[in-house]
Amino acid sequence: MNTNTEQSAIAHYDVAVIGGGAAGLSAAIALARSRRSVLVVDAGEPRNAPAAGAHNVLGHDGVPPLELLAAGRKEAVGYGVEIRVDTAAAVRRDGDAFEVDLEESGTVRARRLVLASGLVDELPELPGVREMWGKKVLHCPYCHGWEVRDQRIGVIGSSPMSVHQALLFRQLTDDVTLFTHTMPELDADSVEQLAARQIRVVDVAVVRLRDEGDKGVTVVLDGAPDAEQDAVVVAPRFHARADLYRQLGGTMTDHPLGAFIDSDPMGKTEVPGVWAAGNASDLSAMVMVASGAGVMAGAAVNADLVAEDVASAVRDRTAQR
Ligand SMILES: Cc1cc2nc3c(=O)[nH]c(=O)nc-3n(C[C@H](O)[C@H](O)[C@H](O)COP(=O)(O)OP(=O)(O)OC[C@H]3O[C@@H](n4cnc5c(N)ncnc54)[C@H](O)[C@@H]3O)c2cc1C
Repeated sequence: MNTNTEQSAIAHYDVAVIGGGAAGLSAAIALARSRRSVLVVDAGEPRNAPAAGAHNVLGHDGVPPLELLAAGRKEAVGYGVEIRVDTAAAVRRDGDAFEVDLEESGTVRARRLVLASGLVDELPELPGVREMWGKKVLHCPYCHGWEVRDQRIGVIGSSPMSVHQALLFRQLTDDVTLFTHTMPELDADSVEQLAARQIRVVDVAVVRLRDEGDKGVTVVLDGAPDAEQDAVVVAPRFHARADLYRQLGGTMTDHPLGAFIDSDPMGKTEVPGVWAAGNASDLSAMVMVASGAGVMAGAAVNADLVAEDVASAVRDRTAQR
């Protein structure tokens, strides 16, 4: 039964899910299958949209990311979830619920919030990186490492993490070059590890990347000859999208790679009534992990609403005696 009621001009829902990626849709489906009224507000920019296929997605390996989400939306709608292509711009607490202002379609009210708004990849400021991001400029060996196995991989250094990336991609190919670029000076252990795995270290800054079509990528170096690669690896910083969380008084938690919304294993945050799932609360979550976190958050929110409804029913019953 859909419990969405129109007590005023404002639409009411049990739960508003902000973000309709793997995490948000999974949360919405778990909630709707427990007969909760759910609104998903989705700006439609999932993080992996630039990639041709999503890998490590069991049963759907290599599925185009937008195709996977279209299937998820269809399943959600089948259970009565309302999906609005819109952006949640502001939120405030109103009594025991929340009011969410949407950019295009007014204000809605919900008893609980699930923040599944993902993260922003802060890419190195290098010409060519943004244009080839998710195609020939990569970050995650588990997402697209297999696809570049046995190829020439150039790692653009920006932090000590770049050594770790070089070692991970070395598992996929024996042709890895680390361009130190802006990373701090390599310590003795790192030098030893890179040498032991035959990873070339080129100690210069990178000027830009040039897309060479079928021939790969040229890494243009400052004061050294250009280097021809098949793919390039960078280490973005990851910033959970958390404007709404901050508006409700939530604070971000720093991480060596960025910042995220801290939560318990079920997604419950420090802000009462607010859950988080997917990349918003776990910077390293891949699609299936984000989806799993969404299901957990959906189940936890439903249990919380059940507890509230039971307490209310008990109060009513006591009052009638
Ligand atoms: C290039 C690339 C390739 C990747 N490849 C893989 C892969 O092969 N396999 C894999 O498992 N993982 C891969 N990933 C990781 C994958 O993208 C994430 O695991 C996944 O997107 C996380 O899902 P999510 O629901 O948390 O966030 P997202 O998928 O980013 O979804 C968040 C949604 O919320 C919306 N949103 C944000 N703010 C608002 C707002 N205020 N109002 C309304 N909507 C809002 C966004 O527009 C977006 O649609 C890749 C990542 C990148 C960057």
